[in-house]
Amino acid sequence: MSRFLNKKYEKLKSYTPGEQPRDMKYIKLNTNESPFPPSPLVAKAINSKEISMLQLYPDPQCGELCEKIAELYSVKQENVFVANGSDDILNFAFMAFCGDRKKAVFPEISYGFYKVFSDLHNIEYTAVPMMEDLSANYKDYCKDKGFVVIANPNAPTGIALSVSEIEEIVKNNLQNVVLIDEAYVDFGAESCYPLINKYDNLLVVSTFSKSRSMAGARLGFAFGQKELIDDLNKLKYSTNPYNVNRLTLAAGVAAISDNDYYMDNCKKIIKLREYVTEELSEQGFDVIPSKANFLFVKNKKLEGEFLYSELKKRGVLVRHFSDEIIKDYIRISIGSKDDMDVLLEITKIIIKMGDIYEN
Ligand SMILES: *Cc1c(COP(=O)(O)O)cnc(C)c1O
Repeated sequence: MSRFLNKKYEKLKSYTPGEQPRDMKYIKLNTNESPFPPSPLVAKAINSKEISMLQLYPDPQCGELCEKIAELYSVKQENVFVANGSDDILNFAFMAFCGDRKKAVFPEISYGFYKVFSDLHNIEYTAVPMMEDLSANYKDYCKDKGFVVIANPNAPTGIALSVSEIEEIVKNNLQNVVLIDEAYVDFGAESCYPLINKYDNLLVVSTFSKSRSMAGARLGFAFGQKELIDDLNKLKYSTNPYNVNRLTLAAGVAAISDNDYYMDNCKKIIKLREYVTEELSEQGFDVIPSKANFLFVKNKKLEGEFLYSELKKRGVLVRHFSDEIIKDYIRISIGSKDDMDVLLEITKIIIKMGDIYEN
């Protein structure tokens, strides 16, 4: 820390991204990226013509992309917001919709950035305890009100709420914005975005990073009534009006035009997820039924930290969190079939080792 840093940031604990190591080639199952490349139309869209235009600023309204997203989801363009990854949108939303006397409310076990944004913007928050099975009970968010933020499906558990449960939360918080983070919704949960037509307090946030294979391009989008979208734009235009670059805009338009390709990939990932769930259960793991592109698993005999490091030694990266109530778990992204078969071979070996220690 320099002696110049504003005091209010002295104690800020920033977000810890999953490792992106470059020391050796790992099978990367730690940050929920897609095993599939972007659509071929994306590669075509990032062409020399587009590159030759990089001297010009991109369209700050992201008009063409918003129009294409609106078309695909059958909403109006005024109901769509795009930004530099959904993290960017979450940041604007925490700035816009809480603070003063309004606290943020989110599950205790969820996406780590919610706490970071609360701290960054000096917002009080309630981290709502989970149920025994690590699910979130929607009723808790109907009683304890505020700017409610819920990842659905949740990360890192993969457990999803139903749209009717979300509607209850929205209905019971008419004085607050309810933000549903649908980063993983394409992997088997139901999206609640059609509810924006009925409720002016619902903001649904999504991303091109997971199901649309573009984590490296940084592109997120959100749905809400016009007034909410206008608020987000106010903050965007006060921070960085050109937050989505020209190449990413072109990539996004191309990706939206090849939606079937991505939805097919999601089906393949879901199928593989079910296969790995079965195999790991057979090996003795407790696997939380997941609606996302990852599995949250534990093994009674082996500590989460041990599983993580033994896998890493053998070239497979997964994610381990040290929070007390989930420290026994590891989170495994669903990669390619080959990668998952390697994982399953290695977990078998690690379990055998555990058996040897035990005897
Ligand atoms: C990955 C993830 C994001 C961040 O997505 P970006 O669009 O890459 O910024 C947001 N929310 C959740 C729950 C995520 O897992």
